[in-house]
Amino acid sequence: MADDRFHVYDTTLRDGAQQEGLNLTVADKLAVARHLDGLGVGFIEGGWPGANPKDTEFFRRARTELDLKHAQLAAFGATRRAGVKAADDPLVAALRESGAPVVTLVAKSHDRHVELALRTTLQENLAMIRDTVSHLRAEGQRVFLDAEHFFDGYKSNPAYALEVLRTAAEAGADVIALCDTNGGMLPDELADIVHEAVQAGARVGIHCHDDTGCAVANTLAAVKAGATHVQGCANGYGERSGNANLFTVVANLQLKRGFDLVPPTALADMTRIAHAITEVTNVTPNSHAPYVGMSAFAHKAGLHASAIKVDPNLYQHIDPAAVGNDMRMLVSDMAGRASVELKGRELGYELTPEHTKTLVERVKDLESKGFTFEAADASFELLLRDTVAGERKRHFDVESWRVIVERTKGGELVSEATVKVHAKGERIVATGEGNGPVNALDKAVRLALEQLYPELAKLELVDYKVRILEGTHGTDAITRVLITSSDDTTEWATVGVAENIIDASWQALEQAVTYGLLRAGRDC
Ligand SMILES: [Zn+2]
Repeated sequence: MADDRFHVYDTTLRDGAQQEGLNLTVADKLAVARHLDGLGVGFIEGGWPGANPKDTEFFRRARTELDLKHAQLAAFGATRRAGVKAADDPLVAALRESGAPVVTLVAKSHDRHVELALRTTLQENLAMIRDTVSHLRAEGQRVFLDAEHFFDGYKSNPAYALEVLRTAAEAGADVIALCDTNGGMLPDELADIVHEAVQAGARVGIHCHDDTGCAVANTLAAVKAGATHVQGCANGYGERSGNANLFTVVANLQLKRGFDLVPPTALADMTRIAHAITEVTNVTPNSHAPYVGMSAFAHKAGLHASAIKVDPNLYQHIDPAAVGNDMRMLVSDMAGRASVELKGRELGYELTPEHTKTLVERVKDLESKGFTFEAADASFELLLRDTVAGERKRHFDVESWRVIVERTKGGELVSEATVKVHAKGERIVATGEGNGPVNALDKAVRLALEQLYPELAKLELVDYKVRILEGTHGTDAITRVLITSSDDTTEWATVGVAENIIDASWQALEQAVTYGLLRAGRDC
């Protein structure tokens, strides 16, 4: 179990699940919980049993299906209703019966919210907190309290906000998490209020939303002011602008402030875990996310590249390996020899000065024609291999291809492609049908080559992007196609540029297949 002196408390499955467009099944929630446990967080808030049937089900299944190594489960719920005993409130019973070792109770700490939203007296609100906390404690559960709208409440009526905190602590709540529920705080003012709360004598935690873009900064400021419990969500999920990104918070505290929060081996797995969670949530990963984003350590400018070759640490705030990320060199027309050399080394090639010179010239020439290699690593690698080999080596030669798009009498659109290729001394003609011309071409070329290269069956076209580029003086616009392919262990991207969209697609497709064959260990 994690050290109790400082808590890393995840609320992805409860607060994070409020994100627009995010919808988790019970199985998804169990999968996310396993990933979070793998990272080594101390607490995983599973949801609100009793109020939400899916969450009741989560806690029921967690008992047999989750084997947590680091984390403890926390059930979230409200203090008892006004005018009843905690012991008689069915929602409090659901928390008790969840089987979770920890219960996090949400309570009002803003006087106006008590009167307007809860429609009870300030005294009854304190009684609800006292009664519910002590009841659950007596039943053997550990209790944390989320003080909702604490900062606005403190500004409205500081004495009452602190009274809430003291009442909960005296009744046996171990932590009072101060919530910036509407996310409107800035670090300096928030730190002052956290300081006052710590002075009041309770163990203080922090729960921030990112509406001012300061959720992580606010969390760090709260820790500096004495908070010893941080709440946040995987990948910064949450409603509106999201919650504090727990990954950023943990990396900052551990790598910059010397906190010992998660095992270093788990931290070194954080990038993988962050992406694995996006697979479950089906939310596109933010490539610019601090620490774990694809671009977090991607360098572009040629000026930097030459210095990075000498010492990468000059341009990076940490060693990317500490969070399981990698430095990447982006090949672009802004870059010169140094970044091409570095990229070559990243791909496992030692380039001679002549190779580098030729490659830089070819990249510059192709980029002036509309190609981009930043987003098409596989195309760059093929170009590099061709340069080193002195000629384009091929697994197959294309004699011709043809696509027909037909609108049938019934109004249906059908595409049919025929591809003629030569490979391993054979001439193969294959026809494929698809819902569009590119889909038909993809099917035809794979049908033709699968007979000789069965591993192509695993290859899948996962993304297709088209961009129309403005023509330069006197020329027509040109089309750039980026294709992402996958063989279920990795993804790669290829690029094609032509005046004709099908031609551009074909170029990217042909490279995608070639790269797939190279990955499968097929030499030309
Ligand atoms: Zn929240």
